[in-house]
Amino acid sequence: MPKAKETVLEIDLNALKNNYEYLKSKLNGNTKFLAVVKAFAYGSDANEIAKYLQDLKVDYFAVAYINEGVALRDAGIKTPILILHPQAVNFKTLIERCLEPSLYNAKILNEFIQVASQEKQTNYPVHIKFNTGLNRLGFQENDVDNVVSLTSETSAIKVKSIFSHLAESENLNEREFTRQQIERFTQISNTFTERMGYKPMLHLANTSGILNYVDAHLDMVRSGIGLYGYGNSEEENKNLKPIATLKSVISQIHTIKSGETVGYNRAYKSLGLEKTATIPIGHADGIGRQYGNKKGFVTIAGKKAFIIGNVCMDMIMVDITNIDCHEGDEVIIFGDHTNASQFAQTANTISYEIITAISQRVKRVIIT
Ligand SMILES: *Cc1c(COP(=O)(O)O)cnc(C)c1O
Repeated sequence: MPKAKETVLEIDLNALKNNYEYLKSKLNGNTKFLAVVKAFAYGSDANEIAKYLQDLKVDYFAVAYINEGVALRDAGIKTPILILHPQAVNFKTLIERCLEPSLYNAKILNEFIQVASQEKQTNYPVHIKFNTGLNRLGFQENDVDNVVSLTSETSAIKVKSIFSHLAESENLNEREFTRQQIERFTQISNTFTERMGYKPMLHLANTSGILNYVDAHLDMVRSGIGLYGYGNSEEENKNLKPIATLKSVISQIHTIKSGETVGYNRAYKSLGLEKTATIPIGHADGIGRQYGNKKGFVTIAGKKAFIIGNVCMDMIMVDITNIDCHEGDEVIIFGDHTNASQFAQTANTISYEIITAISQRVKRVIIT
């Protein structure tokens, strides 16, 4: 790997392949795989990730919003794309770009039927979302009859799948709750299939659902975080490889005397003769202020260098008093030594948040 000369997010497609194949090895041969590539493929690079997974013959993609789906179509993605959280204002665009909506309440279902009919669609594929305990989006169990009558009154749409989402599949202490969600979803899908007269695809499991609940795999699974290398447990992390490494360089080294302060609000005060390094990455790049004041650290020459003082917009300063290093040397923020999950823990957050926070200003470098 060439040493970083500026702040870069390296994306390793071989690691992605490893993760995809590992997750697929958990499924039986008939279960389809949907890759969740929302939020720039969890802060990496949605176009590159989607193209690579399309070549590996992934069955489906999902993103949250319609504009994310449009960007994938613009990049040449032909695989079906589920839009998890569409808004009616963009339905014409959704249809033009052959994106498939998740419809989660009567309002949005009616709005979609109206637009699909106006656009003279027949059997337009839609996905019906049910709430089984997350209480975020979705029809309730007792809405089944209503959904069936609304969808069977029109030929404009066809229910391609019904699905739900698990609230804490990563937490084995809450097995009972997850079991209930699986049970509820089974009830809903049985009733739905019976009333509808045909069986749509069923899907429920996210990454931890794949790893922890074989009986939640159903017809398709939806994986995000696992593809990017995090399994929601130390044990599973051993089988997965983080695809993204965030690197930077030392721009300048300062030697500061006892009592001198560092950065805005003079938040750090030196206790003796100390050495600091200034690094070109700040809160505008996704390293939030909560990592400052010796919470977070970076790795320089294999050693921990704690962030001192407040995180600036474009820079952090780190303590390198006991590290043998020079201006221009490489800095690892997360990747091999400290993975994004461990880095996130220093600020009491989770891998999902830190990896999706890396802003578009940071150059993405694809490694194959
Ligand atoms: C984001 C999301 C996923 C992916 O979850 P991971 O834990 O990252 O695998 C799956 N399904 C839905 C509905 C989502 O919003």
